[in-house]
Order: sequence, then structure tokens, then C-alpha cells
Amino acid sequence: MNISKSRQFFSGNDHALDRMGQVRTNRKLLSGLYNDPNTRFLLCVNGGSKFLFLKQEKKPELATSLPNSQSPKRFQQIALLKRQDLLDSKLSLNPYLEENSAVFGKIVIQDLNNKKSVDEYSTAMQFSKKASQVFLGKTTNISAIDSNSETLQETPPYYNIWAIDLGDLGAYEQDKIAEFAENAGIEEPQGIKEIESAIANTLKGIFLPLRTGSFGLNACQAHVIALAAALTDWNYRNQFCPGCGNPTWSTQAGYKRVCVNGLVSTINDNPLLYIPQEIDKKCYSQFSLNNFTFPRTDPVIIVAIISPDGDKLLLARGAKFPPKRYSCIAGFVDAAESIEDAVRREVREEVGLNVDKIEYYTSQPWPFPNSLMIGCFAHATSKNIVVDQDEILDAKWCSVNDIYPSLAKNESESLLNFDKIIDQSNKKTLVSDQTDIELPPAVAVGFFLIQAWIKKQINHANL
Ligand SMILES: [Zn+2]
Repeated sequence: MNISKSRQFFSGNDHALDRMGQVRTNRKLLSGLYNDPNTRFLLCVNGGSKFLFLKQEKKPELATSLPNSQSPKRFQQIALLKRQDLLDSKLSLNPYLEENSAVFGKIVIQDLNNKKSVDEYSTAMQFSKKASQVFLGKTTNISAIDSNSETLQETPPYYNIWAIDLGDLGAYEQDKIAEFAENAGIEEPQGIKEIESAIANTLKGIFLPLRTGSFGLNACQAHVIALAAALTDWNYRNQFCPGCGNPTWSTQAGYKRVCVNGLVSTINDNPLLYIPQEIDKKCYSQFSLNNFTFPRTDPVIIVAIISPDGDKLLLARGAKFPPKRYSCIAGFVDAAESIEDAVRREVREEVGLNVDKIEYYTSQPWPFPNSLMIGCFAHATSKNIVVDQDEILDAKWCSVNDIYPSLAKNESESLLNFDKIIDQSNKKTLVSDQTDIELPPAVAVGFFLIQAWIKKQINHANL
């Protein structure tokens, strides 16, 4: 296929977030990156299920005639906290300083392969076992990442960006909850929601679910929050070792979790850190490279199915879709499958079709919590649809005319920069009044697959 590919929402593209993986094992460098005045922090709770966004004075207008400008307006903006904000709100300390090791925990890990000991400083456990801090990287794209950059007297050359997950506020010790409350001016907090909103108010922000807030971000902020969400979620959900069941310990700036079974010694008396007193055998995770100690990404195929004669696209309604929503077929890649295997199986299972000429087109990170959408085209060998009623409510062959009205609507409502087709096709005589189909929003890769097919149809080219 030769059509130009739009860059996918949530992906890194050229936004220049340098993840700086080489610093993750260097405590002194990490400490410097934490304390640097050019460092900014994203704040979230419950493994990234909610992030702190800036409070909007008023909702920005939904500009249907917005030109395809380089700096589109945004619905939402992530809150970028300064180090002083964290200190003032007593939310976090530098975990890499010796003086804070009693708070966070410092541990000496014996590297059993190299017979040497390594100091490890946890990025978790300040308040809660499920809390974590992750170093995301450095960006020089200040105007895109910082919505307040226009008001700065001098633009910083870079930002180091960390994500802090406060974990489960409900699991915090009572004295820490009381400290939050006092800081926020609440005498007797009535519940976790009140604490959550008190933290947000103190920081002049609002906690929003990731799905609610992230779709309104600009592309650069969307990428950063996607990375933060995937890693904080992974830390949150992997508190115990799959190898032996003992607790795990967040290290390497939040990019690795090690099993406490086999740790040699500790200078830590943090009650939140549980280390078994007697360990009768070492966990196998200490002896070899194991995929469960590093963050995971789950592959998902999403496929636009073209009819045998090439003039229709198959769109389906999932059981959990909003009213009138139709999209492409999607599903997780199963064990020992190639991408092509997964496409053939999912299509056969969900709509009873056989497909060939499967072609990869584009991909998209999907941070709910950590999927990678692999977008493909495939050609059906027949038009006989047999819908799997469990997962799919309806599936049908759609023409350009069937799809175009919703496509044009979603393009015009989107504030993203991408190659829109509505302007190019003004002179086309397309029926565009009513439709029974609502396509996915323009932030989704399913939308881009459908848009790519429409572009080809309008240009009378074959896929
Ligand atoms: Zn283990």
C-alpha cells in the first residue's frame, strides 16, 4: 500500500522523549534527575487508572472549522508538577538519597551470577505497597509537553519527566491519611474520595480516569501519559513474584521488579516492606532472565476486511460498543500465533469469513493498560457473514457512501493533526446526509484503517 500513513495517537513519533534506559541502574544519576529544577512529575492513583489533569476554567470550544494548524487547541492538559509542589504537598521525596532510605527502603541485592552485591533503592513503598515512581525520560519538546510554556519568561532546554503513582489511597496508614488531610485543610476526612479530591485541590488539578482525560490531550502529552499508564499499571499489578509467590521490589527507576526471595540483607525497617525471615531456597527468577520481571506489552490485531470485489468494507458492532458504533474486527494474539494466524482466526471466529492477502499497515500503543494494536488489511474470499453472537451484535458490508458521513464528522470534530480527506473530496458527489453508522473516534487506529480504505476508494485505486 502506498497511501501515506498518519501517525497514531499515543505513539512516540518524533516527540523526542528520550527514555534514557542507560541511567536506570545508576542511583546517583537518577537522584540528579529527580532533583533537577527542570524535572516535572505526573501524578496518578491506583496504577494509573486516574491521572492528575489541569483544572479547566471553561471547556474549550469544539471548533468544527479549526484549520489543520500545527498547534491545535486541547480539551485537556496533564498537570506537570514541580519538585516543590511535591515537597509542599508532602507527596514524595527523592527515593535515591541515603537519607530517605528509611522511608523508601534500601536493600543490598547479591548478584548471584557475578558474585557481587548491588545497592538497590526502591521506587515504591513510600506510603503504600502498591505505590511506585517511574522515570519516563527527557524531552526537549517543551512547547508541546507544557501547556503553560507560553507564560514562562525563559523556555527551559529540557524536562526530565517522572510518573508518581500514589497507589491505593485506601491502603495508606492512618497517620499518612491524616497528614494529607491536614495539609489540605480537612479535619476529619470522610473517605478516600475526599482525600483524592483534597490532593487534587492542593495541586490545583483534578483526577480524571485515563479514558476520560487522555483522548483530549495533544499528541505529545498523550504519548507521555500512555507510557506512564503502562508502567505504573505494571508495577501496581505485579506485587508478587510468579516464580515463588514472595513480594517483589520495584527497581531500575520503575522498569524492573525483583523478587525478595534471595535478597541478602537489608538496612530497612519500613513496615510496608515485607521480607521473609527464613528462605529455604532461592527463587529461579534470581538465576536467569525472566520476562515477568520486566514490563509487558500485549499484542492485539485489528483488521479491516475488504470484500472479494474490493468495493465494500466489513464493519462490525461489538457487544460493548456505544449505540450505532461500528468498527474493524479486533482480538488478542493467542499463544504461538503469528499476526497472520491471529487475523485469520479472529475473523473466522467473529464473522465466519476466510481471508487472504493479509497486509500489515500501522500500529498503535493502547494504554488500557498496555496493548499494542497491530492494524492490518485482509481480503475476504466470500461475502457470507456468520456473526458470533457472543462478541458481535452485527456485521455488514459497507460502501464508501455508507461510511463517509461518519468519517467526515469524526474528522471535522478531531483536533488532531492528520491527513484529513474531507477538504480533498469536496468536489466528490457523495451522499453524506444520514448514516446508521458511527465510526470510532479519530484517536483510534480502527478509524485510520477505515480512513485509509476510503482514501483509496476515492482515488479509484486498489488496495
Ligand atoms: Zn520469586
